[in-house]
Formats: sequence, structure tokens, C-alpha cells
Amino acid sequence: MFKYQCAGCGQAIPTSCAGCAAKIASCLPPHCDDAVVALSYEGLVRELMLGFKYNNQRAVAAMFADRLHETLRTIPEIGCIDVVTWVPTTRERRMERGHDQAETLARKLGRLLNVPVRKLLVRETVGHQTGSSRAKRLVGVSLRARKLSVPTSVLVVDDVVTTGATMRMAKQALWLAGAARVVCAAVAATPAPVQRR
Ligand SMILES: [Zn+2]
Repeated sequence: MFKYQCAGCGQAIPTSCAGCAAKIASCLPPHCDDAVVALSYEGLVRELMLGFKYNNQRAVAAMFADRLHETLRTIPEIGCIDVVTWVPTTRERRMERGHDQAETLARKLGRLLNVPVRKLLVRETVGHQTGSSRAKRLVGVSLRARKLSVPTSVLVVDDVVTTGATMRMAKQALWLAGAARVVCAAVAATPAPVQRR
């Protein structure tokens, strides 16, 4: 027998309880130039995301994929997507957590959009990372995309966008690999830092 739980508070009910749904919905996404974003990475969204990353909570993954799907349905490009892919996490983190949270989300979104999901991006580490400056560390990770034989419209999924640098790197790599169109999407983005005067 299936047991359902609210993803927010763990109550045994069929879906998110009204209280948690309202808390999640109140985390309106910040403006983001680099990706379509469903939620702001704060409050209950942040707590649930951390739980999902480290424990692969299925109810949370489904809820986040639904939220992102709802947001994606509002953009015109979504009807043209040929393939869904994801920004891969590091091998160490995947081993540690038992799953790649971006892949889990991409697979759920592929099902919701009825579009195939393929691993197109590969994480590469270049140069040394120890003891280097922040600028060098940023250069230290790069993404490469598998060659696309036909012009393809790709949807790239990630869990959280912070600076947007990774999304821009993914977009660049996919264009170089022959993508015709790249749409980036993330469940949440970190709120813009408070402007200091
Ligand atoms: Zn709840």
C-alpha cells in the first residue's frame, strides 16, 4: 500500500498540505537572466531542497518537478524542446548522496513534458584546484557537451542557480556541440543579495 506524505511537514495526506503549499508558493523566484526559475531558494524551499539533495526524498523531487513544469508551461519555447538534460554534479557528490539531484529532476521533467532525457553534459576538471585563488577555481571546472548530430532544442535542468555561471557554461557547451536552441531551467534561485549603500 502506498503511503503519501506532505513534502513539507511529513503529515500523512495525499499531497502537500495547504500550509506548506502556501509557504512554498510564497517563495517567489528572484529575477534571473540565465534560467527559467520556479522558486526562491529560501525558507521551506531551501529546507526541502537540502533534504532532497542528501536523501533523495521522492515526494519532494516530484513536488519540485511539478513546480518547475508549471513555470515552464508559461514560456513559448517549451513546445519545441527535443531533449531534456541536466547539469551533472561531481562524481564525489553523487557517490556521497546516492543520486544526482539535477538528473532526478530532469528525469521527472522529461516524463511530465513527454520528451526524452539524455546525458549530454560532462563535467571536466582542468588544472589544479588546491591553493588557488577564487578566480582560478572558477576556471577549474568546465562543462563539455556530447556532439549533437542534428540541430536540437535542449532543456537544461539544475536544482539551484546561484551566480548563473554554470548555466551560462552549459549553454555555451551545448551551442558548441550543435544545439539549435538551449533553454535553462532551475527549481530555485538564490535571492539577490541586499544592495549595500
Ligand atoms: Zn505540510
